[in-house]
Amino acid sequence: MKAKTAAKARVKVQDEVAGGERSVTLLGATGSIGASTIDLIKRERGRYRVEAVSANNSAAALAALAREVGARFAAVGEQAAYRELKDALAGTGIEAGAGEDAVVEAAQRPAQWVIGAITGAAGLRPTLAAAERGAIVALANKETLVCAGGLFMRRAAQAGATVLPVDSEHNALFQAMSAGRRKDVRRVILTASGGPFRTWTAAQIRAATLEQALKHPNWSMGQKVTIDSATLMNKGLEVIEAYHLFALKPDEIDVVVHAQSVIHGLVEFRDGSLIAQLGSPDMRIPIAHCLAWPERIDGPAARLDLAQIATLSFERPDLARFPALGLARRALEAGGGAPTVLNAANEVAVGEFLSKKLGFIGIPAVVEATLAAAERRGLTREPASVDDALAIDQESRLLTRELLPEIAAKAS
Ligand code: MG
Repeated sequence: MKAKTAAKARVKVQDEVAGGERSVTLLGATGSIGASTIDLIKRERGRYRVEAVSANNSAAALAALAREVGARFAAVGEQAAYRELKDALAGTGIEAGAGEDAVVEAAQRPAQWVIGAITGAAGLRPTLAAAERGAIVALANKETLVCAGGLFMRRAAQAGATVLPVDSEHNALFQAMSAGRRKDVRRVILTASGGPFRTWTAAQIRAATLEQALKHPNWSMGQKVTIDSATLMNKGLEVIEAYHLFALKPDEIDVVVHAQSVIHGLVEFRDGSLIAQLGSPDMRIPIAHCLAWPERIDGPAARLDLAQIATLSFERPDLARFPALGLARRALEAGGGAPTVLNAANEVAVGEFLSKKLGFIGIPAVVEATLAAAERRGLTREPASVDDALAIDQESRLLTRELLPEIAAKAS
């Protein structure tokens, strides 16, 4: 995020806001971030107008929320869901579209704000389309940055787009960074809750079930990110995300385990000042910050009662019990397409774990094996384009599937 771009955008935004409503497009509207965004928009009637909404295949849910917020266009990613969407929108005047191009079209429609909340690599093309027309992109799709971060940030800067981080840790860093000049930042610290297995022994983690992994102590989120939080891969992906969003060096990004999830991120300035952002673990806080930026709106999240919380604790992440965080760091150091491979392998592995075909410790094992094999096959090259990043993603998924049976047998 270049300070100059953000400052220019700030002036532009204030002019537009003075004139009335903000137009918003919501990509990935039926997920958890989508639901929180819709909740905020409904509380601020008159402040936001919804241009377009998209979902992967939940046609009925998408149609219902398109009607609710009065969107002009609704798109489903899966062609097969078109008929259902079209029928559910009959008589409303809301246009329906289907397929990847329709989701890209949703991103290209003239909304000032685009909330990029599609899960996984599927979010890459539409999110980039929004950035390339110079929109203000509130980015919740971390895979866009992990798979093609260099490319995405370059194109966004060229188009004069503003990228606002929705991910709670990065939103915290973004807020804390405004306390000083970018060049005076010495390092950033991402906090991690440690997930449901923070205090478990290696033997207990080995026997962890799906139900146990889905019980996040603090946050209520989608299944994929909940499992990523249990392995700490989520924090690894967030280190890569921070690297691209704030143009940091890998060794300027630290991770600390903070079980209460009250502090979401900290920025250390050269004079030794550490600026933190605190708040309840409720995604409506960072989403509200992005939707209202550079202003603020009323948020419905519970207020912190510091005396009741009483204690904030911190510990170093244990890379022996949670090897996924170390794998992500190694992928970032390796650079090129290694983070793309890491992300693809992890998505496949988490999918297998969710369908109970792979044990919990099989997830990092599969990712590690895929990274090693990908390097031998030349898949860790720097993606030259979005198509190339998606090709690396696809080839990595195939590679992961080849490696899965042997690792699943060992890790069960
Ligand atoms: Mg996060």
